[in-house]
Amino acid sequence: MLSWIYPTTCELCHESAELSLCPDCLAGLERVPRPICLYCGAPLKITPATTAGCPFCERQPRPFTLARSALLGNEQNMQLIYKLKYHQAIYLAAALAPLLAEVWHHTPGLNQDFAGACLVPVPTSSEHEQKRGYNQAAELATALGNILGLPIAHVLQRCDTEHGSQTRLSATQRRLNAYRAFQVRPAYSENRRSLPPHIVLVDDVFTTGSTARACCHALLQIPGVQRVAVMTLVRAERK
Ligand SMILES: [Zn+2]
Ligand SMILES: [Zn+2]
Repeated sequence: MLSWIYPTTCELCHESAELSLCPDCLAGLERVPRPICLYCGAPLKITPATTAGCPFCERQPRPFTLARSALLGNEQNMQLIYKLKYHQAIYLAAALAPLLAEVWHHTPGLNQDFAGACLVPVPTSSEHEQKRGYNQAAELATALGNILGLPIAHVLQRCDTEHGSQTRLSATQRRLNAYRAFQVRPAYSENRRSLPPHIVLVDDVFTTGSTARACCHALLQIPGVQRVAVMTLVRAERK
């Protein structure tokens, strides 16, 4: 039973490994290449001459202070996410969280400006949790919190207005759904539980950023919350 939850072989090379990904395979996963947009963290084809933002960020509202992702959304990385999300491979959260910690330690905009922050996972739909029994973003946030010594708070909940998987929807439909999809749990909106002024939102994948923006929009309504940063394991390419 324990070996099912904590496999002792590497998911990729099948050699023995303490955390289901051996150090070599973990080091070999393709990171987000530089240069990146200093705002949303997307890889840029060319270094911007005058602005720090990518063309997309220039046109979008910017509710979060910055967003950063660890891995590029290539086939291998997306397969790991898929296993974590849909195949009960919860152990991958602990194996992959060091990559988020790596981003944290290399980004002064996070390790300095968000020191003392609280980690908030993006909630999954109740349909997802009922089917799978866990939320991959919460698993990642918990594992990251353990490494960085930061607290976790389950501040957000999903309003179940949407049906079916978000991945099948167009970007516009997804954006519209996303803005209606998140709300602050009453314990936090009514200030029965307090939060630090800085929050780091944690999720598995950042694609268009619509989920992150909608969550930030909700978090910034909480009295006392001043800034939100976003950390995701993977940066998927916009289609
Ligand atoms: Zn390996
Ligand atoms: Zn950008």
